[in-house]
Amino acid sequence: MIKDIQVITGCMFAGKTTELLNRLNKTNQNYLLIKPKIDTRNINNSIETHDGVQKKAITVSKVSDVFSEIDNIQLIAIDEAQFFPASIIEDINYLVSKNIQIVVAGLDKDYLNQPFGYMQQIIGMAKSVTRLEAVCNKCSSPASYSHRITDNSSSQILVGASDQYEALCQKCFDSYSL
Ligand SMILES: [Zn+2]
Repeated sequence: MIKDIQVITGCMFAGKTTELLNRLNKTNQNYLLIKPKIDTRNINNSIETHDGVQKKAITVSKVSDVFSEIDNIQLIAIDEAQFFPASIIEDINYLVSKNIQIVVAGLDKDYLNQPFGYMQQIIGMAKSVTRLEAVCNKCSSPASYSHRITDNSSSQILVGASDQYEALCQKCFDSYSL
């Protein structure tokens, strides 16, 4: 059986990491959970969701850093995939060729609503894409936009949680952009 690629995407606070960890809880396959080194929210080797659920994770600069550890692995889960470099595409293809299932969670768009990292390409490769929504911080409608509250950096890569970002619906997001 050929293993497939699954993607969990959406804006911030949509529950992507929670969904990823839920899928790992349900699987009976041997898995590795990896996250990019850039995510400084978790300095120790674990992933914690906004609501406090924790799981052991391997911090890597690129996905191929775990290639030496995949002998008995049937599934690789990648969190915050938008932060990985371009090599993530060929690395995922390599893992699929080794009959390893891939589950990717990540932001498809940045806070300016521009494509984030290589998520669009990964979504194009995926057999299943789960698009999660958050709740708008202003009006409680379904939200699919990440809005940066603070304005202290022009970098796309600003990792943060509720103190720096909020989820907005399209109407509320547009009202900031005008
Ligand atoms: Zn709204």
